[in-house]
Amino acid sequence: MRDRLPAIMELMARATNLAVEARRTLPAEAIVGKPDGSVVTAVDVALQVLILTQLAEWFGALPTIAEEDSASIGGKPAALAHCRVLLESWGVRVGGKSENGSTGIDEALHLGRIDGPTHDIDACWVLDPIDGTRGFIDGDHWCPCLALLSRGTPVCAVNGFPTILGGRVFTAEAGAGCWWMPLSGGEVSQAKVRTDTLPPDEVVRVVAPAPATPSQTEARLAVGRSTGHDCALVHSDSQAKYGHVIAGLADVAYSRRGNGPGKYVWDHAGAVLLAREAGAWVGDTDGGEIDCSRGRRLVANNAVICAARSLGPAIARELAERDRVEGVRVHHARCSKELSHG
Ligand SMILES: [Mg+2]
Repeated sequence: MRDRLPAIMELMARATNLAVEARRTLPAEAIVGKPDGSVVTAVDVALQVLILTQLAEWFGALPTIAEEDSASIGGKPAALAHCRVLLESWGVRVGGKSENGSTGIDEALHLGRIDGPTHDIDACWVLDPIDGTRGFIDGDHWCPCLALLSRGTPVCAVNGFPTILGGRVFTAEAGAGCWWMPLSGGEVSQAKVRTDTLPPDEVVRVVAPAPATPSQTEARLAVGRSTGHDCALVHSDSQAKYGHVIAGLADVAYSRRGNGPGKYVWDHAGAVLLAREAGAWVGDTDGGEIDCSRGRRLVANNAVICAARSLGPAIARELAERDRVEGVRVHHARCSKELSHG
């Protein structure tokens, strides 16, 4: 896999650039509602087909957990037609309707598809072709995200971030640091998160999603202030929120589970490795690891916290206290790191 990483980086950079272009001429009928109430576009589906088809060509059809499936734009002929137009213009060949009624697009979307835990699987892709589809449509933050899990642990990640520092693709391999290059091509250089302690008179910058209600905004500010600093909110969404911490544009990003069913693994797996390899504090409210081995959802975690400037433990303690006060049922991941004070 190591020798293929530059090629995977090129693939994800190309995928991101193609999506940037496709966005400019995205017809309204290519944007549809999903059964779960979220929104998806023909570009999400086409991008997943492009990426999985290329990965299968290089590595065979490895086990895969990916966001889109045949239900995403199935039964929406206009969206499907636009997906075919995109794939053709990108030079991706998929078959027509086969005897059992499935299409080449369906088959490509389901390449290697698995459900269930991954802790016994040596190599498993986790793909979100567009994380933040709402942002993609609205001209806000979004990012194509690919991670490779080995026995449930992210060992390789490549994310395209078109909205960060003029557009960059980030990559990391376990133990080898986090690296980035401009989406337009050029030098690959190392991304490093600041780990020196934030001085008392400096403001902590916490990522906040939009739109947010006044009480959600106030809660973010209070979590930031719990570190002992004044707090400023930085807007981002999707895995781009972690990208902001890696890029030094924010100090803290987090995602709480609350009493929900657990966050989707494809919304976090890549960034967990990228941020940790860049030197960020990444963990749960009890300091535990983010357990990406449970299948489609992070059922073992209460939150994903990503922090620079030695702020991780303070944020974790504050979010743990909020879970307690709000009566959130608490889950425990396998191992914890020290939540030292200071
Ligand atoms: Mg998505």
